[in-house]
Parts: sequence; C-alpha cells; structure tokens
Amino acid sequence: MNTLTDSTHARATTILQQRLNESVSVEPDDLDRHGYDGLKIAFQADAVIRPSNESEVGTVLELANIFEVPVTTRGAGSTLTGSATPKYGGWVLDLSGMDTFEIDPISNFCHAQAGAVVGRIQDAALEQNRFYPPDPSSLKWCTIGGNIACNAGGLRCVKYGVTRDYVVALGGFLPTGEPVQFGRDLKKFASGYNLRDLWVGSEGMLGIITRATLKLIPAPRDRRTFLASFQTERAVLESVQALLEDGRVQPSILEFLDRLSVRGAEGRIGRTLFPRSPGSPLLLVEVDGHPAQVTEDAECVKQWLASSAVEFLEATNKAEADQLWEVRRKCSGAMFELGNSKLNQDVVVPIRLEADLVEFIETVRESTGLPIAVFGHAGDGNLHVNVMYDRRSMDVRETAAKAVKMVMEKVVELGGSISGEHGIGLAKTPFTKMEFSSAQFATMKAVKKALDPRNILNPGKLFETFEPWRHDPVEVQLPWDHAKASGSIEP
Ligand SMILES: Cc1cc2nc3c(=O)[nH]c(=O)nc-3n(C[C@H](O)[C@H](O)[C@H](O)COP(=O)(O)OP(=O)(O)OC[C@H]3O[C@@H](n4cnc5c(N)ncnc54)[C@H](O)[C@@H]3O)c2cc1C
Repeated sequence: MNTLTDSTHARATTILQQRLNESVSVEPDDLDRHGYDGLKIAFQADAVIRPSNESEVGTVLELANIFEVPVTTRGAGSTLTGSATPKYGGWVLDLSGMDTFEIDPISNFCHAQAGAVVGRIQDAALEQNRFYPPDPSSLKWCTIGGNIACNAGGLRCVKYGVTRDYVVALGGFLPTGEPVQFGRDLKKFASGYNLRDLWVGSEGMLGIITRATLKLIPAPRDRRTFLASFQTERAVLESVQALLEDGRVQPSILEFLDRLSVRGAEGRIGRTLFPRSPGSPLLLVEVDGHPAQVTEDAECVKQWLASSAVEFLEATNKAEADQLWEVRRKCSGAMFELGNSKLNQDVVVPIRLEADLVEFIETVRESTGLPIAVFGHAGDGNLHVNVMYDRRSMDVRETAAKAVKMVMEKVVELGGSISGEHGIGLAKTPFTKMEFSSAQFATMKAVKKALDPRNILNPGKLFETFEPWRHDPVEVQLPWDHAKASGSIEP
C-alpha cells in the first residue's frame, strides 16, 4: 500500500468512527485478532467494525466505496484457507454479534442473522424435533454466514447434502452498498435469476450476507453406529461403493480413515478397538431416521460388513457409539505427532475413483518421504489429505508444497475438484489454474467486476496466487486447536 492510500484509509476510518461510534474499534489487540483466521497467516487491518444492525453495514460499504477501502467480512474466522483475512488491509466487518435466529414451525424455516452459530441453530431445531443437517466439525464456533459463504459441508453430506441445499433466501448488501434480497421466504418461487446461489460459496467476494432463511427437515428419531476394520484402504473404499451401488441403504455417515490416521488416533487414545487388526484402515458407518427404518437398515449394514470387513463393532447405546466415534474425533489432532505443521487439503474426486487417489498418495509419500495421512467423507468422495512436515526447514516446506501439487494434479486428472468444502481463499490459489479453464476464470472475473467494480469486497482472494507454505504463521492457540497444533499453518 502506498502513502497516499494509507492517508486516504486513515481519513475514511476517522469518518467511519464519527458515523458508527462504538461499533468501530482500532484497538491494537482487536486489529491483531482480526488479522488472521484458521490459516494463521496474519495481515494488518485498519479497523474492526462490529455492526449492531444492517444499516451500519450499509454505511460501511457506502464509505468503503467512496474511499476505496477494502472490506473483509468475517464470522468466526474458522476458515482454514485464509479467506477471512484482510490481505490488503482496510476494514474487517465482524458479523459474529448479529447472531439472533428464530424458527417458523409452520414453514419449517429458520430465520437467522449471519452471525448465528451453526451449532446453536442445530440445537434449537432439535428442541423442536427439527433438523438442520449441515455439520462442519467447527459447528460450535462457525457462523451461518461463514457456512453459506463457503458452502460448508461436513460428515453427514452423503445423505443430507451441503449448506447450499438448505438455503431458501438470503438478505444483505451488494458490494456497492445496495440492500438486496435473493430468494423469498416462500416454499416455492420461480421468478427471476437464481442469484441466491451466486452468493453461496462466493467467500465474501460478491456480497455481504446479513440474513438467511434456512430449510429445516424432521429430526431423525434413531441412529445406529458401526465401526469396521479392513485389510487395505482399497477394500474400505470399494466396499463403500458396493453399498452405495446396492442402493437399499443410505447411511448418514461413511467416514474413512487410512492406516496412518488410525495409528495416530489409536496412539492418542492409548488402545485399539480391534486387537486382532490394530492400525488397520477403518470405516465409521451410521444410519439414522425413523426407528423402524433404522432397524431394517442396520440389518442390511451388518450383512454388508460381515461380507466385506475383517471385523466390525456395533454400538447398542450412545456411550458405545461415542467410543466408536473416538478414533475419528482424535485422528486430526494426533497427526501432529508426525510433524509440527500440516497442509490440509479437502479434495473431492468421483466416488468410484477414491481408491485410485488414495493409492496415488502412497506413491507421493514414497517419493517425498513425508507422512501424509488421509481421512474423510468416503460417501461423497471428499477426502482430507494431510501433508505433515517440519516448518523449520525451508527445504522441507518446498517438499511439502511439491507433495500437495502432486496430489492436486492427480485430483484434477481424476475429474475431481481441489476443494470439496473449505473453498479457495488464499491457500488453494496456487492450484486453481489446474481446475479452472481460462474461460471459467474470465467468467468469474466478469461477475466480480459487474458486482464489485471497485474491488472492495475481500480483494486478493481466488484470483491472485498466494503460497501459504512460504509464510510463517502467527503463534497463537485458537479455540478449536489441538494441543500440539500451536504455530502450525493449519489445525
Ligand atoms: C476445527 C475445524 C473444523 C472444520 N471442519 C469443517 C468441516 O467439517 N466442513 C467444512 O466445510 N468446513 C470446516 N471447517 C472450515 C470452516 O469452519 C468453515 O469454512 C466455516 O464455514 C467458516 O465459518 P466462519 O463463520 O468461521 O467464517 P469465517 O472464517 O469468518 O469466513 C469464511 C469466509 O466467509 C466469508 N464470510 C463470513 N461471513 C460472511 C457473511 N456474513 N457474508 C459474506 N461473506 C461472509 C468471509 O469473508 C470468508 O471468505 C473447519 C474449520 C475448523 C477450524
């Protein structure tokens, strides 16, 4: 940034403070905390704004457009891609305080402000026998605005779909400051272009979401959990394909863990659930729904596992189910025994090619010498590939980057996508050219220019290349961090 821009931004910030008073903070601690997100690479914000109502959001954009100040919208800052950081400084608009929501039981909608925490929406829906299914593992912290902006997924997508599938209508502001409503609070409508979905997954670059209408569905009344061990990773993934192909059962969870993930998790727990085959690749399966349906589905699952797995366990109550889940919950944190840093990729490939990707990753391990642990949502092709490395050596960082590049090239070759749920932000920008054609880039840039002619909202993301492994992360412990993750590039 040059001196002229600095002084213009400073003047704009002074006017903003006069207009919005205590909603604006320039406290150094506040600026620091809003300079990074889950990626932990820090930038310097000029001001943090915590609007108390929508008209203050409009004022922010009005002034930002006059003085050309970058604005980065933020929910909980739990993104792992750097998408919520103020890369070019300017103002961070923190919407986490606009967090009220209410359930309309007749329409079966939830009307939420953007800052509402997803876990709280889920709990409130369940209290009324309703269900908001999208379940990113960060749901205790992340906001519905952030989930919509990233089109967040989670563990249950195989049966219930992603955030996009539950968004009925969105209210908020265009980058130029005009208030808009995309979609209606109605069960159906067929008027005009579907601009609502343009905002879903736009990572805060095409508008600011202040309100959302979400679809709720009836809550499943029962569930059954299984954990199965297999001889090889391919056996797990081919067995998943066979179940899906059969079509009689639609599990809500089909979570895969490769050997490295299992060994780490078992080490952390201090025991194995399968003494005859410790450290073997695992599959966690859950079926849910009406109790009669769950009983029928569970029988099918047992037959399927009896014919494909080495051994399996079935939980008969919640305490047992929690024990089966423990290995999945512990695997991510346990990886920090393998390296002090992680490059975490949330790639997605066609389900029938998952085993090919996992086997290719074995060759990447061999050629780079780095531990790479894979786990994830086998039922929808979305695997988390965790390249563990020692950040203290520049050479090792480059090797880790090479490993990620090899994986991404393979993903795209298999017809997959470089992100299944986290989005692009900064972290995935080195790989976008592998996936998007020049026509796709040109179209996305044209949309951005049409809606945000002054490039106010979240500049520096998606279109510019940023290599996270070349930057040192801030040493900070975030609420969701695992004990050994402090200072790592991704938790
Ligand atoms: C431990 C952990 C587990 C995770 N597990 C999952 C998972 O299972 N599945 C998954 O999909 N993700 C997961 N994530 C990633 C992250 O939680 C999600 O991307 C989440 O959607 C981010 O929400 P947030 O409120 O923190 O948004 P932020 O991180 O604050 O922002 C994310 C992006 O959304 C934009 N944004 C935020 N609010 C708005 C708004 N109101 N209007 C417009 N743009 C906005 C920001 O500008 C930014 O580009 C995980 C993260 C962590 C730390």
